[in-house]
Amino acid sequence: MRRAIYPGSFDPVTNGHLDVIDRARKLFDEVIVGVAHNDQKQPLFSLEERLELLRTTIGEADHVQVAPLDGLLVDFAVQQNAIAVVRGLRAVSDFEFEFQMALMNRKLEARVETIFLMPKEEYTYLSSRIVKEIARLGGDISAFVPPRVAEAFREKREQ
Ligand code: ADP
Repeated sequence: MRRAIYPGSFDPVTNGHLDVIDRARKLFDEVIVGVAHNDQKQPLFSLEERLELLRTTIGEADHVQVAPLDGLLVDFAVQQNAIAVVRGLRAVSDFEFEFQMALMNRKLEARVETIFLMPKEEYTYLSSRIVKEIARLGGDISAFVPPRVAEAFREKREQ
C-alpha cells in the first residue's frame, strides 16, 4: 500500500488543489489530504469548514481521504504509514520555501520523501489567497473553485 499525504491549509480548496489531488491519486494507492489548523495564518474558513468543503467536493473519490493535521507533518506521515508528502509547485516563487521545507522534513524523517507535482498551466496563477481577495472585492470566483466553495463564500457574505 503506497500512501501519500498532501498537506496544506486549503482555505479554501481551489481547482488547483483538486488538480494536484487528481495527479497524486494516479501515483499512489491512497492519498490523505491533511488539513492544517494553521492559526498563524488566521484562516477565513474554520478547520471544520475547510474539512467539509474538501469532503463535499471530493465526494466518494476512490482512495482519497481528508483528515485534520496537527503537529509535525513528518510525524503525521509516519503515523499514517505514508511514504511520501505531495506538494504543488506553481512557479519559481513557490520554490524557495518548498525547497527548505522538503530538506528540513528529510532531516527530521529520512523515510518520508517529498514529491512536487505541477498543475495544469491554467491553475499556475491560482491560490486560495487570490480567490479570497477576488471574493472580498465582489468578483466572480466560479471559474476557480468548485461550486460548493463558491456557495460557501456566498453564505459567509450573508452571515
Ligand atoms: P499552505 O498553507 O501549506 O501553502 P495551501 O493550501 O496554500 O497550503 O497549499 C497546499 C499545497 O497546494 C501547496 O503545496 C501549494 O503549493 C499547493 N497549491 C496551492 N494552489 C495550487 C495550485 N493552483 N496549483 C498547484 N498547487 C497548488
